[in-house]
Amino acid sequence: MKNDVSLIKCNDYNQENVDRAVEQAINLLGGINNFIKKGQRVALKVNLLMKNTPEKCTTTHPAVVEAVAKLVLQAGAIPFIVDSAGGPFTAGYINSIYKASGLEQVAKNFNIETNQDFESHEVECKTAKVGFKFPILNALENCDVIFNLSKLKTHSFTGFTNAVKNMFGAIPGLTKVEIHGKYRDLNTFINFLYDIHAYFGSKIALNITDAVWGMEGFGPSNGDPKKIGAIIAGSNATAVDVVGANIITLNPIKTQIIEIGIERNFIDKDLSINVLGEKIENMIVKDFKTVVPNNFKPYANYVPKFLQNTVHKLMTKRPYINKNKCRGCKKCFEHCPVKAISMVKHKNSPTLKAQIDYAKCIRCYCCQELCPFGIVKIKSGLIYKLVHHKETKSKKLKRD
Ligand code: SF4
Ligand code: SF4
Repeated sequence: MKNDVSLIKCNDYNQENVDRAVEQAINLLGGINNFIKKGQRVALKVNLLMKNTPEKCTTTHPAVVEAVAKLVLQAGAIPFIVDSAGGPFTAGYINSIYKASGLEQVAKNFNIETNQDFESHEVECKTAKVGFKFPILNALENCDVIFNLSKLKTHSFTGFTNAVKNMFGAIPGLTKVEIHGKYRDLNTFINFLYDIHAYFGSKIALNITDAVWGMEGFGPSNGDPKKIGAIIAGSNATAVDVVGANIITLNPIKTQIIEIGIERNFIDKDLSINVLGEKIENMIVKDFKTVVPNNFKPYANYVPKFLQNTVHKLMTKRPYINKNKCRGCKKCFEHCPVKAISMVKHKNSPTLKAQIDYAKCIRCYCCQELCPFGIVKIKSGLIYKLVHHKETKSKKLKRD
């Protein structure tokens, strides 16, 4: 069966333009009443990631959340805003992000709640592949419907992040760090993301992507804001990601998020999608700067298994901390899933600075994602540069 995905042009965050684009996107899918009923509690599961203003493009833009909230209210349902960001799942931390991201104001303007239930509980997923039991936010259990409001960005670990990856925020706070440590390789990690989707099933009734502005380069937090000009919506998260991947120049079939979606039957192998609204080819951002995800393993058939870990580390990008610039806030130290970061004395500074032990580092890039000052950069080693240069060249040739 073909999955309907609507793709609507939206050039800026002017509220009227966003309202029009979001409404059109949902109307093309049959209208808001197709997804919710009067009186239902609807979780608007946004991307909060970290404390940033909307202009940084790390979080779902408040104009998009407002547009969706208004439609939910018009349908007589009860929307509320929720996510577990990259740090601790506590009132102090999450409320500071609601405020900085502009979502607290949206909630005030429309008299809706930002989630204040900071409890979670363990659930079982019988159709899981890797995570049969995992904790999820109570707020996502105690609602009737979930609208998954993601932001389209590059992601140094998974290649890109959108609808499928956004549900990782269903996992409470620092448990996400443990999960990164447990499911270290990209394939296992993405399978875990699909376990979350399998658990919620059709409760995630609608996925709406804020791709008006996204992020290119070293996302999801330290890349550069990039205008994409689109709102994407659909009830199938993988299908929405296929459209998102296409417009940021990724070949969806070669991205692990889609590959594993096919393996897990979240979408068929022909990627049968009925794109409504704009044509994908008219929306492609040709100069979008993508990243190569962490599991680029062209050596897999040539290097003995026991050496693959070492070779993989040489061939993947690594996080780099400039100690002169590090402010010693310890965020990376507290969130590294394998304790590869220590705080050390540096020159005459009274502040301890973060230092990475590359032998332990598993290249999950959580430190880069969460450093509030953008100090953790991603660097490519010589071997990585040589191999990636070749791969980029052949990709370009194929397109030409
Ligand atoms: S140092 Fe950074 S990239 Fe390496 S394992 Fe720790 S958090 Fe992940
Ligand atoms: S998060 Fe950034 S500023 Fe804070 S200790 Fe780590 S590198 Fe330094």
